[in-house]
Amino acid sequence: MPARSFRFACLGLIVIAGLFAFLAAAEVRDTMTHSRWLQHDKERPKPPVVEPAASPAGAPAPKDAVILFDGTNLDVWRTPEGGPAPWKVAEGFMEVAPGTGPIETKAKFGDVQLHVEWASPSPPVGKGQDRGNSGIFLMGLYELQVLDSYRADTYADGQAGAIYGQYPPLANASRPPGEWQMYDVAFRRPRFDKDGKLLEPARITLVHNGILIQNNEELWGGTNWLESAPYEAHGDRGRIELQDHGHPVRFRNFWVRELPERPAPGADYPARPQTVSLAAAELDSLTGQYAMGRRKDAKPATISRGDGHLLFKMASRPRPLVMLPISPSEFVLPHTDARFTFQRDDQGRVTGVLFRVGDGEQLLTKIP
Ligand code: MG
Repeated sequence: MPARSFRFACLGLIVIAGLFAFLAAAEVRDTMTHSRWLQHDKERPKPPVVEPAASPAGAPAPKDAVILFDGTNLDVWRTPEGGPAPWKVAEGFMEVAPGTGPIETKAKFGDVQLHVEWASPSPPVGKGQDRGNSGIFLMGLYELQVLDSYRADTYADGQAGAIYGQYPPLANASRPPGEWQMYDVAFRRPRFDKDGKLLEPARITLVHNGILIQNNEELWGGTNWLESAPYEAHGDRGRIELQDHGHPVRFRNFWVRELPERPAPGADYPARPQTVSLAAAELDSLTGQYAMGRRKDAKPATISRGDGHLLFKMASRPRPLVMLPISPSEFVLPHTDARFTFQRDDQGRVTGVLFRVGDGEQLLTKIP
């Protein structure tokens, strides 16, 4: 290799090595600082206490809900090994039987709306994480912390309503020990591609006793103690697990609604018509003012030319909309299932345009 090429090769290697070092450093920073707080940091600010309004707990479940606990039995629950759930059932609630381990739903769920009511032991025992601790693990991986946080202190990302180790609640909406508290949850599971690459993180919204405390937060992986682990690909459905943290926490009125996938267009979804290009004179023949709206005093819409397009400007909207021609008399709007069909008289003069969108249509008459 000539000396000059060798010098260039060395320089290239140095630049590439520097780039990798920079990326590696960035990676370390990222894994340390998703929230820029260390996990379980006592110094992380505590959310303000917000006193919830009187509780509407005990409301019946929606008709399409899957009932996870109706107050009478644990038939839909099991141990992780598949045995009968050994927790206590009494007087309309279930209670953690400390030391028996977690229980999980027999059925698996993906995206859900979830409602549960829970109560921490009264009188309270212990402090910090050792006080009325349990948890609701969505898909067995993503914990909504259950804890007695009523006038009780612990680290912010571990208190009641925390997405454990990741997001403290935005408010401490806890009720006193022994009182029924409500969690209403919207959970969107993470999406992975077929190779297990994360396409979309899990998201959680949580309303605690009527107070929004998690606002569509993006999880950065499963929730863990002492660990901030990235996602590991998993299936589209998983069991809901309740934690046995050694405390007789109670649950009741527990249901989920399975949330459907938004339908994507199928292969038979008609393709948009191809746009055509029209001569300037043709476009100019369509411009003008058009009567729009049912009221007599309604301001007309204007079709003008700009940037090589026809522009449709309604009096009620600040910005004009670009009209794309698909034939000499038909135009569509970008991204919108709307169509303009111009009408002409026997002499070829434009008389109006039929504007159709959604389930409505209106003939806009051209103002001479
Ligand atoms: Mg817990």
